Amino acid sequence: MKRDSFKTTLSYRDFRSDQTNDWCAGCGDHGILRALQKALAELGLARDQTAIFGGIGCSGKTPYYLNTFGIHTLHGRVLSFAAGAKLANPALNVIAVGGDGDGLSIGGGHFLNSGRRNLDMLYIMFNNGVYGLTKGQPAPTLRVGERTKSMTHSNIQGYLNPVSLALMSGYTWIGRGYAYDVPALAALMSAAMQHPGMAFLDVLQPCPKYNDLHTKDWYANKLYSLQEDGYQALVTVDTDAAAARHIFNQAMARAQEWDERIAVGVFLHDVSRPDFQTQLHAMQSAYSDRPPNRQPVTDASGRCMVDISPLLEELKV
Ligand code: SF4
Repeated sequence: MKRDSFKTTLSYRDFRSDQTNDWCAGCGDHGILRALQKALAELGLARDQTAIFGGIGCSGKTPYYLNTFGIHTLHGRVLSFAAGAKLANPALNVIAVGGDGDGLSIGGGHFLNSGRRNLDMLYIMFNNGVYGLTKGQPAPTLRVGERTKSMTHSNIQGYLNPVSLALMSGYTWIGRGYAYDVPALAALMSAAMQHPGMAFLDVLQPCPKYNDLHTKDWYANKLYSLQEDGYQALVTVDTDAAAARHIFNQAMARAQEWDERIAVGVFLHDVSRPDFQTQLHAMQSAYSDRPPNRQPVTDASGRCMVDISPLLEELKV
């Protein structure tokens, strides 16, 4: 997100909506919502500078509870909607949210390709191992052989690691947070929103209703901070290839830790790669000088008014 110098004095309360929240008591979703409200306030953003897109699932309700622009989209397609908004209005702070089921199963293709595209926006995954909205079936982040109280049999499918997949897909900022640690989570969200490229934040989000394996007590003595452990995530244009490869390999190894200890913090902060729109501008400046949100789209009769002749002129060979 490219920040202008204007900062509001809104508090996190100003980012609360008046909608009734129907998430279960004790759900990690409440912590994620609070962290989002805190991060937006601390960045000094006005409410109309942010658009949040939700997928389908318990997490998909987040846009209703945040007092910004909000759009509830389709199952697995949240990243496509968010990318469309960012391309139409490059100045907008765009956030997509969804569960691990939404993002890694039906939405898996969008997850991978969003990384390699490197648009300047943030995707937050609510990672609880189950499909909470539909009564707790195993989701892609549940390990094979695990069985929660909502399942009749142990899980017979292999699991996907969101941070590893994000690394392989080319996301340029990758972090992991914990839903019950709101201050640390808000700080991660703030860093992710300020990153000039595609950011992915995996949030470990206990679902007390259906997942009795990965509870607050289970996480209690496992979580540790990468940055407090001396981990270095920054890659710049001056980082040589061997050092960048070392950071990538370290991130991959830390992402796999699970049974004994679990890393939270920033795995990768890569500012060596230009984002999608910077590259687009170099190729077609007519697009970014006059993006779609600054153009009248139709006249009173509904006829298209967009003049694409400057763009066609640029594309001439
Ligand atoms: Fe949260 Fe689980 Fe309840 Fe959904 S079902 S609101 S994820 S506790």
